[in-house]
Amino acid sequence: MPFAEVAVNAAAPIRQTFTYGIPDGVHVEPGQAVYVPFGARTLQGIVVGLSEHSEFEQTRELTDVIDPRPLLSPEHIALARWLSEYYLAPLFDCVSLMLPPGFRRRPLIMLRPLASFEEIPSLKLTDLQAAVLRRAIELGEVEADELKREVKLRGAPGAIAALIRRGFLQRSYRLARPQIAPKVVRQLRLDAPEPEVRARIEELRQDGSPRALRRALLLETLVDEGELPLARARGLGLTPAFLRDLEAAGVASVEEVTVVRDPLAGRVFPYRKPPPLTADQQRAYEAIAEALAPEPLRRLPNTFLLQGVTGSGKTEVYLAAIDRVLELGKRAIVLVPEISLTPQTVRRFAERLPGQVAVMHSRLSLGEHFDIWHEIREGRYPVVIGPRSALFAPQPDLALVVIDEEHEWTYKQQEGSPRYHARRAAEELQRLMGATIVLGSATPDVESRFRADDGVYQLLELPERLLRQDDGSVTVGPLPEVDVVDLRAELIAGNRSIFSRPLAAGIRRALEAKEQVILFLNRRGTASFVQCRDCGFVPECRSCAVALTYHESEQALICHYCHRKQALPVRCPECKGERIRQVGLGTQRVEEEVHQAFPEARTLRWDRDVTRGRDSHEAILARFLAHEADVLIGTQMIAKGLDMPLVTLVGVITADTALHLPDFRAGERTFQLLEQVAGRAGRGPRGGRVVIQTYTPENHAIQAVKGHDYEAMYQREVEFRRNLGYPPFGRLVRLTYAHTGAEYSQLQAAALVRKLTEERDQRGLPNLDILGPAPAFVPRVRGRWRWNVVLRGADPVALIRDMQLPRGWTVDVDPASLL
Ligand code: ADP
Ligand code: ZN
Repeated sequence: MPFAEVAVNAAAPIRQTFTYGIPDGVHVEPGQAVYVPFGARTLQGIVVGLSEHSEFEQTRELTDVIDPRPLLSPEHIALARWLSEYYLAPLFDCVSLMLPPGFRRRPLIMLRPLASFEEIPSLKLTDLQAAVLRRAIELGEVEADELKREVKLRGAPGAIAALIRRGFLQRSYRLARPQIAPKVVRQLRLDAPEPEVRARIEELRQDGSPRALRRALLLETLVDEGELPLARARGLGLTPAFLRDLEAAGVASVEEVTVVRDPLAGRVFPYRKPPPLTADQQRAYEAIAEALAPEPLRRLPNTFLLQGVTGSGKTEVYLAAIDRVLELGKRAIVLVPEISLTPQTVRRFAERLPGQVAVMHSRLSLGEHFDIWHEIREGRYPVVIGPRSALFAPQPDLALVVIDEEHEWTYKQQEGSPRYHARRAAEELQRLMGATIVLGSATPDVESRFRADDGVYQLLELPERLLRQDDGSVTVGPLPEVDVVDLRAELIAGNRSIFSRPLAAGIRRALEAKEQVILFLNRRGTASFVQCRDCGFVPECRSCAVALTYHESEQALICHYCHRKQALPVRCPECKGERIRQVGLGTQRVEEEVHQAFPEARTLRWDRDVTRGRDSHEAILARFLAHEADVLIGTQMIAKGLDMPLVTLVGVITADTALHLPDFRAGERTFQLLEQVAGRAGRGPRGGRVVIQTYTPENHAIQAVKGHDYEAMYQREVEFRRNLGYPPFGRLVRLTYAHTGAEYSQLQAAALVRKLTEERDQRGLPNLDILGPAPAFVPRVRGRWRWNVVLRGADPVALIRDMQLPRGWTVDVDPASLL
């Protein structure tokens, strides 16, 4: 008897699979969804392999096949296994990424009463047990959770358990109803040729009875429309008897059709012709096209890093590459950091490829999402656009994966499981399926650029910004000039407003010229570090080279890597000034200040607080594009891919906040953010300027933005990371413990560090640092105290791969940050 290896939806952190026998006569394939017995329950599972032998003496048989057609391809099964191994995540969680939405069903406990009302007094029950049993009898078979809710008495769960033990309630297991299924409508369809039906209609008319006339009218409508939803046909007088007649005579029949819920339906994107590519674009495109061509065999790596300054036309290169993919009869997946924040990008794809683009949007209804998944699997959409999870769409004949703004950390799943990075997973998918990958960014992730320098990726460059003229043609233009303003000098000059003199003058000039301004406020890390207002000094940890974090509860500065603690200085150690304190400011404050200083300016705020509704991102953007406001005040989200020709000034209120986050990527992130924000200015024929306000104008990241000098930032980061063994020179794993007890969680973290250290020394694993424990950057989340332990080395996963971590620990392999 052959056996199936199954990933089981057991809601437990298990990486292993389970082996089940396949009942005689049942056909099972890898990738298929099945029901399996698991303890006393029946659970869902996905077959991930078949074998002739079982290692176990006794194997149970699988219960049933859910869907005759495999839901996962062999490549996707292999990808899920890889994800599970690489990110140390439960296999079913990894499989789930590739299943149709809503597939996962909750296991339910069902209870059936085995006594009658009359018997209750003689059963020697407590009052509570009697009350529970009475309610259960009233309800008949009921879900255990529902019975608990119904009884609403303290101690009900205990009473239910006692009733089960004593045999008055029988327990069984079932799966919750599927959350979603295809939307199917039944309709009446015309089968006979039209003249034949017309003749029939004539007959009915001749008859002249009210019933015959009603039937004639029904058939006439059917002839006109070809098919009628069954509900409407009934409304027009279709009876079961008449339907039987029609079917017998071959005139009409009932069919089931699947309705597709398409979120783009009803939205019209007029077709846009591709512009001729510039010479740089053409060169980049040709390199990609060569990799896409199946013949002859190439030696070049087929992952490309398309590094092009903001506004250099990267999107046109993606579009040209996609055109080539379509010519070859293949398909593509395009990842964007966040769909709702990149409406302009999505629109450009939809306009160029009308009717051929599926958009995977987190705000799709489950039904829409489900339908799109199935349509994609049928090959209905040559291009799928979506956030990181769209990488797992069942796109057949996948030839190209584009990852736009590849440096964005939204590509890393940072909660739940598996905590995968879309770029890393795409590389694995490429190994399995052979697709070409294009990573695009103006400010590539240092690790990506390093891989390009190493020859793992092929670097393609677009060094020049394109300026769109009013007639739609492009010329090459300069990047916007960047002014770095020293806020210390402003203070000395007596300016205590949040606008430096150069920024205030710039806003005034732009308003007078009827141009637009973006004011950018970086809220990440606000009020977490301490800075001297006079000289800009920020206290840092001596051994970790990251800013110390201020903990109000302890009135102390703490290093979040090594947990070194230090008193909050009263005087600045640099300048001996006394104005050393926390840093922080919100968008609302900025808006008020704009109104005060420039009463005539119309403002618009764009941050998470004001964008809760379905389309509000697009609505805010549309209003700003329509020049309904002069000044847009926003946080991180405005950095992403916006192209607004009337914006001639971008002001960064304080550049410093992100710079001093206790994270080794702080410098890189600050550069990326500021360079991207700066890139919003000067995209039209009027040119543009950027004003960056800072207390640390000499900082290397800020200096790099001033010169739009990615190379300078990159070289410096590489040097720093090489010295300390940070990625790309070493890998990291972050282990986080969370518990409601403050002291308890600290003790647990310390205990794990001891255990890990012992294990490392025993196994003689070289070059593996165990850092911490240290409190998490946000030390208490939802009532739980969090402690971090960081593993750093060439292969830190090796230490914990086969270790069963105690409950309460989460693992993040290649974490986005160490906060
Ligand atoms: P990036 O993606 O690098 O930020 P985009 O692709 O958005 O750059 O290009 C910037 C602007 O230049 C867009 O408005 C785009 O429509 C326009 N553009 C890009 N390439 C061309 C081209 N070859 N001909 C005409 N316009 C172009
Ligand atoms: Zn430290």
